[in-house]
Amino acid sequence: MSSATIRRAFLDHVFYTQGKLPGHASGNDLYQALAHTVRDRLVQRWISTAEAYQSQPSRTVAYLSAEFLMGPHLGNNLVNLGIVEAVRGAMATLNLDLDHILAQEEEPGLGNGGLGRLAACFMDSLATLEIPALGYGIRYEYGIFHQSIIDGMQVESTDTWLRNGNPWEIQRSEWAVEVRLGGHTEHYTDDRGRYRVRWVPAKTVVGVPFDSPILGYRVNTVNTLRLWRAEATEAFDFHTFNRGDYLGAVNKKVTSENLTKVLYPNDETQQGKELRLEQQYFFVACSLQDMLRLLATQGLPVTRFHEKFTVQLNDTHPAVGIAELMRLLIDDHGLAWDEAWHITRRAFAYTNHTLLPEALEQWPLPLFQRILPRHLEIIYEINARFLDEVRIRFYGDESRLARLSLISEHGERHVRMAHLACVGSHTINGVAELHSRLMREDVLKDLYEMWPEKFTSITNGVTPRRWLALANPRLTRLVSEAIGDGWIKDLGQIRALEPYADDPSFRERWQAVRRENKQDLARLVRDATGVVVDPNSMFDVMVKRIHEYKRQHLAVLHIIALYHRIKSDPHADVQPRTFLFAGKAAPGYHYAKLMIRFVTSVAGVVNRDPQVRDRLKVVFLPNFNVTHGQKIYPAADLSEQISLAGKEASGTGNMKFAMNGAITIGTMDGANIELRDAIGADNFFPFGLNASEVYALKAAGYHPSTYYDSSPELRAVVDLIQHGFFSKGDAAVFRPLFDGLLQHDPYLLMADFASYLHCQQQVSAAYGDPERWQRMSVLSSARSGQFSSDRAIEQYCKRVWHAQAVPVCLLHRSSGQVQGARRAEADGIGTFSERCGGSGS
Ligand SMILES: *Cc1c(COP(=O)(O)O)cnc(C)c1O
Repeated sequence: MSSATIRRAFLDHVFYTQGKLPGHASGNDLYQALAHTVRDRLVQRWISTAEAYQSQPSRTVAYLSAEFLMGPHLGNNLVNLGIVEAVRGAMATLNLDLDHILAQEEEPGLGNGGLGRLAACFMDSLATLEIPALGYGIRYEYGIFHQSIIDGMQVESTDTWLRNGNPWEIQRSEWAVEVRLGGHTEHYTDDRGRYRVRWVPAKTVVGVPFDSPILGYRVNTVNTLRLWRAEATEAFDFHTFNRGDYLGAVNKKVTSENLTKVLYPNDETQQGKELRLEQQYFFVACSLQDMLRLLATQGLPVTRFHEKFTVQLNDTHPAVGIAELMRLLIDDHGLAWDEAWHITRRAFAYTNHTLLPEALEQWPLPLFQRILPRHLEIIYEINARFLDEVRIRFYGDESRLARLSLISEHGERHVRMAHLACVGSHTINGVAELHSRLMREDVLKDLYEMWPEKFTSITNGVTPRRWLALANPRLTRLVSEAIGDGWIKDLGQIRALEPYADDPSFRERWQAVRRENKQDLARLVRDATGVVVDPNSMFDVMVKRIHEYKRQHLAVLHIIALYHRIKSDPHADVQPRTFLFAGKAAPGYHYAKLMIRFVTSVAGVVNRDPQVRDRLKVVFLPNFNVTHGQKIYPAADLSEQISLAGKEASGTGNMKFAMNGAITIGTMDGANIELRDAIGADNFFPFGLNASEVYALKAAGYHPSTYYDSSPELRAVVDLIQHGFFSKGDAAVFRPLFDGLLQHDPYLLMADFASYLHCQQQVSAAYGDPERWQRMSVLSSARSGQFSSDRAIEQYCKRVWHAQAVPVCLLHRSSGQVQGARRAEADGIGTFSERCGGSGS
C-alpha cells in the first residue's frame, strides 16, 4: 500500500467522516480519520475470514473472559499490517507526526491487570496463528477507573473511554439476544410425559454485540472480539408509558443498561456483589446463544456443539456457562440430562489464575437463587450426581464429600464456582509450573485426586508484537538488522541474538537504544509528575497492581535502607537509582492504598533531601495502563518481581521486562522460576524463601519481630517509619503498615528483607560493570523466546482445544461498485473473487 493511497484515504476520512477541513481538524479528528483508514484496510480480511470459517468444518475457540485489557488498537494494527513506515511517511507529507496521532487513542481499559491483558495477548496470538477464534466479553461503558495522585493518595475517576466514539467496533444489532434474570421456575410434565422445567423470569434484558477486528501479524486472519452491551427490551415500556408514568418507563431502560455500565475494579478479591453475578451470567448467556446461532447457520445440530466449539473459561468468572449450556440443551432443546452433560463436559475447559483463597469465587446461595433460580437447580443436580461418583470412588470418606461439594456449608452457604468449573470441564490448567503444582497439591487438591488426568499446566506468555515490535521500535530495528525479522512471528528465533552478547559494538548499540528509551520515559515522568530523573541512573521498576502479596512495600523498605545508609555515611557506596512505581489499588482495598501513600511519602522525603536526591529518586507514575506499559517496560534496567513465593500465579509483567532486556530481581514464584531457568542463573537475581520454605516457616510458627530485634538495619528502617519520619512526624499514618509487619506480617517481608537487600547489593555491583550488565541484558532478550503467547496458544491448541489453523484466502470484491455488491450479496452470489496466500495489502 503506497503512502499516496493512505494519504488520500486519510484526507477523505477527515473530510467525510469527521466533517472537517484538514486545517481545522483536532487531534481526535486526526486519530479518528486514521483509525477509519486502517479499519478500512482490515475489513476485506475480516469478511474473508468470516467466509473461510463459515465454509470450512473448522473448530472455533470461544474465549470467554469478563476482561479484555486490549490497549490501544491503532498502533498494533499498523504493526500487524506492516504499514507503520508507509503511514508515518504519509502523515509526514501532511506535516503530521504519527506518534502524536497514536497518542490520541483512549485505550479500552476493559480489565484490571494480568488476567485481562492475558486475554488480549491470546487474541493476538490466535489471529497470528490463524486459529478460528471468537473472544467473548463485556462492553463496559466505563473501564478500569482512572487513577490520579493527589496529596500522595490515589483518587479514582471514571474512565470515559467511549466519549469520542470507538472507531474499531461495529454494532451488530441483528444478532442481539435476550437474557432472562430472576423470577422462579415451574415444573410440569409435557405432552410426551417428560418432566420439564419452565423458567419464569422477573426481568429480561437485551444483549447487543459489538464486534472489533483482531488482526494477526502479516496474515489475512482477522478474528472477532465480540463484546456485549445490555439494553432494555424496548426503549419504552409502553404499558407504563400509557399509564402516564413516563419517568418510570425511562427508568426501566436505565436500570437494564446499568448491567454493563462499569467494570468491577477488584483484583484478587471476590466481593459477592449482585450486579457482578448478573454481568457474568449476562455475557455468558449472550455468548452461548450466539454460538448456537452460528452452529445453526452451519446447519449443525446442537448435539455437535462440542465439535464446533471449544469454550475456554478465563478464570471462574464465566463458569456459570456450564449450567447455562445445560439449561439451553435441556430446557430449550429438549435433550436428556446425560446427553447434555456429555456435550457440556466436552466443550468446556477452565484456566485457574489464583492461589489466594480470598480470590476464589463463591456466591451466597440466596443471592444466586434470586438471580438464577433455574441454574441453581441445575447446579444441585450436577452436584448430586458428582457426589454420588465421589461416594463410590472414596468409600466412607465423608469429610471429602463436604470438601468437594459445589455448595460450601461453612457458615452461610455458597456456590463454589471453581468446583463447578472443574466438574464441568474436560481440562483444567494452571498458568505456570509452580502454580499448577500448588493447585494440584493445595487449592484444588481434592478435585485433582478425583481426576488427575484432567489437569495440565500451560505457562502464560505475552505477544512480541505489542510488547516488542510496537513498544520498542528501536530495539526491534537493532535485533532485526542482526538476525532478520522472523523472530516477530516466531520468538524462538530471537535466540540467534545470543552470540551478539559478546560483540562489543553490538552491545554499545544495544545500550544506546536502551538509553534513548530511558530518555523517552524520563520525559513522560517529568510531564506527568514534575519529577526530573537522570537516565544515567539505574531504572529500578516495579509496575503492577498494588497488592500486599506483590510486596511493593518490600521495595520501599529497600529504598529506606539505602536512604539510611547515605544519611548515616554520606560516602556510602550507593549506586544511583531511579525507583519507578506504578499501579492501581482496588478502591476498597485500604491497605493497598496505604502502600501507595507509603511510596509517595518516601518519594517526598528522598526527592527533597539535597544530600540524597542526586543519588536516589523515587517516582510514582499515576494511572498505570497498557499505554504506559509500552513506554515503561522498554526503558527498565531492573525488573522487580518480588511477590511472596507461592502467591503469584504466573506474572506476565516479568516476561515483558525480560524480552525488552531488563534484568530481573525476583523470588522463586510463578513464572519467575521458568524465566530464571531460561535466561540462566547468571543473568537473574533470585532471593528470598521459596514456596516450600514459606510453607515450612509458617507451619513452624513465624515471629516477624525476631527479625526486627536481630537486624540493626531493619530496625533502623522500621523505626524511621514508626516515628513518622516519612509522614511529617505523624506516627499514626503508617501505623497499620508497621503494626502489620511486626505483629503478623502475612507476606513475610521481615523474613525476606535481609536476602532482598543482599541481592540488591549484587545488582548494584553488576550495574556498576556496564559490559557485564549489557551482556546480561542481551541474553535476557535472546533467551525469552518461550514466553511468547504464541507458544502458549500452540500448547492450548494441541493439549486442550484440538483446534487447527485455517488459513484465510483473501476474497476480492470484483466490481468496485458497492450497489452491485449489495444486490449480489442479497442474491447469495459471491461478489468477491478469491485470492489465496500471501499477506497482500
Ligand atoms: C502486564 C500488565 C499487567 C500484569 O503485570 P504483572 O507484573 O504480571 O502483575 C498489569 N497491568 C498492565 C497494564 C499490564 O500491561
